[in-house]
Amino acid sequence: MRIDIITLFPEMFAGFLDYSIPQRARKKGFLELELHNLRDYSTNRYKSVDDYPYGGGAGMVMTIEPIDRCISALKAERDYDEVIYTSPDGPVFDQPMANSLSLCRNLILLCGHYKGVDERVREHLVTREISIGDYVLSGGELAAAVITDAVIRLVPGVLGDETSALSDSFQDGLVSPPVYTRPPEYKGWKVPEVLLGGNDRLKAEWRYEKAVERTRERRPGLLKEDSAFKAE
Ligand code: SAH
Repeated sequence: MRIDIITLFPEMFAGFLDYSIPQRARKKGFLELELHNLRDYSTNRYKSVDDYPYGGGAGMVMTIEPIDRCISALKAERDYDEVIYTSPDGPVFDQPMANSLSLCRNLILLCGHYKGVDERVREHLVTREISIGDYVLSGGELAAAVITDAVIRLVPGVLGDETSALSDSFQDGLVSPPVYTRPPEYKGWKVPEVLLGGNDRLKAEWRYEKAVERTRERRPGLLKEDSAFKAE
């Protein structure tokens, strides 16, 4: 999968890309990630990429021209499944969205800054908008990093144990059951007996029951009306 990120601050991605799963995905060749500095596409002699808003109001607005030039240059090289703008008022990112994006071959993620982008970018250049939650960040970089991380770990082969992404929270409409590791007892705090025993069926049943219980407690909205495990 290829992800092109358009940003005013490419340096913000350095740490995130060089560790853990994103780094492994890149090394193994599952993720080709290219960062594009929007300023390189400004034709303005001051390399500016923003301007005052028409109609007044506080804050600057990102101009359409450098964004259009950058997206056009990328599209001339390959087809893109989606051109995504990270925006607080977009549909809120969730696991089903991550699943569907993980099936894409080429994605563009456009990071906004200041008051956001000229509305015509959203009307004509972007195919999809995603918010990572109902709060306002200073820029789209962290949102793009969140989306990239959630999506890339779903690409088959990226995680060492291929089944582990499937057993994560939200994949089957349930959150994860609690997990434990050695030692079996610490300061008198014990690991549930069933997990220490040899009966795999009982262990699987325990995990499933705990997942349902935890979902009912913490995310009752995930238990759909037609589910066998309806919220009370
Ligand atoms: N004035 C805008 C906020 C701009 S914040 C408004 O009130 O809607 C600057 C940029 O940060 C946005 O253009 C967007 O790209 C990014 N951003 C901020 N919050 C975000 C969120 N919750 N999810 C995704 N992107 C976000």
